[in-house]
Amino acid sequence: MSASCPICHKPRSVEYRPFCSRRCADVDLQRWLVGAYAVPAEEEDESRPDDSGEF
Ligand SMILES: [Zn+2]
Repeated sequence: MSASCPICHKPRSVEYRPFCSRRCADVDLQRWLVGAYAVPAEEEDESRPDDSGEF
């Protein structure tokens, strides 16, 4: 049977199922949020590919 954490594939924890730890549950939540908003909320980057390029 496959009862491993979907994030790191370690054995699951009953407390944090289907994850192995709160950290992995957090990671999954982050992924979900990022996917839901499709916008990188953190890390403000200076490079903006959408800016009108001047070669
Ligand atoms: Zn895990």
